[in-house]
Amino acid sequence: MPLDALLTHCRLADGRLVDIGVAGGRIATLGDAAPSLSNSVPTLDIGGDLVLPGLVDGHMHLDKTLMGLPWMGHAAGPTRMSRIETDKKILPYLPVSTEERAGNLIRDCVARGTTHLRTHVDIDLESRLAKLDGVLAACERHRGQASVQIVAFPQSGVMRCPGVLDLLDQAVREGADLVGGIDPLEIDRDPKGQLDGIFAIAGRRGVGLDIHLHEPGEMGLFNVHEICARTRALGLGGKVTISHGFCLGQITERQAKAAAEAMAEAGVSLVTHGAGGLTLPPIEMLRDAGVLVFAGNDDIRDTWSPYGTGDLLERAAIIGWKGDFRRDDQVETAFDLVSAAGARALGIADYGVAVGSPATLFTIPAGGVPEAVAAHRPRKLVLFDGRIVARDGAALPTPMPIG
Ligand SMILES: [Zn+2]
Repeated sequence: MPLDALLTHCRLADGRLVDIGVAGGRIATLGDAAPSLSNSVPTLDIGGDLVLPGLVDGHMHLDKTLMGLPWMGHAAGPTRMSRIETDKKILPYLPVSTEERAGNLIRDCVARGTTHLRTHVDIDLESRLAKLDGVLAACERHRGQASVQIVAFPQSGVMRCPGVLDLLDQAVREGADLVGGIDPLEIDRDPKGQLDGIFAIAGRRGVGLDIHLHEPGEMGLFNVHEICARTRALGLGGKVTISHGFCLGQITERQAKAAAEAMAEAGVSLVTHGAGGLTLPPIEMLRDAGVLVFAGNDDIRDTWSPYGTGDLLERAAIIGWKGDFRRDDQVETAFDLVSAAGARALGIADYGVAVGSPATLFTIPAGGVPEAVAAHRPRKLVLFDGRIVARDGAALPTPMPIG
């Protein structure tokens, strides 16, 4: 196939300096380009910058963000329930729609090299599917800039809000990719009811699950094992994620190892964001045990947190700092959480900078992955399926061809 474009002087993660040929939105060649080629196809000189695959944000909330609005101070109280109730008092009355705010955040992420996202979207008795409709519209508008998976997230609870299970089922029929859950004991006080209910929808509709588990210590551990048991029973291995799992860092080493073995055997993954003020799950132990661990930004300047920028390299640095990851191989682990591990969890095919993979990548001035994470400088160029979606730290209004 003839090339559509050529990126020259690209530094790969392994240190090699190569030219990357793009054809049909994919990486067609990777190596030394024939000198004559650069005269015949549009060419962009990357100047020796590092070229890495588009980043994967495995946990975020597009419907909650305040991006695009003047600064608003944090309005919720100190508890999770206060944040849930504050959401309902603020989000429906904002002067900027869910679709617009979600779009603002998608573009902010794209500008920073993120090309794949998994977002949770609140489904509750008050807003029903309104937020899902807004986020679906934003995703449709940004189809050529990033891929987005949507989790139908019952933030206010399931069993304590009769009718929510039907709404979750409807959300999946109308475009959500996964079913969510939240703290089956702490929020619902009915772990069997919630977990049986959401797993039944997943089984019926053939989708995966991603369950927010903030519950501490033994309470959370109980639900980790309940989730693993249902995943095994329904053959859903590889399609179930526990979000946060703070409990895994709050129990004895023996309990944590047993939980890790159960998760690895069942095919239950864990997504973390290195939450402030809370324990970090033992990332390295979990990975050593065979658990797929990945990462996301979670709240980005929203009703739950004033912090966050959408930058996954900064997030990897935060997780690495919090986990005391100092050696290069440990910083590379932090990078894996926001790239290849996330791609495996989200089921993204042919991920990576390799021949045959989609030309979905970003460039950054850095000598290698550890420096890219630690310094997280602005991204110079971001490609999605072979087209330029961001340049010099800003998203383009529409994707442009290379050259
Ligand atoms: Zn979340």
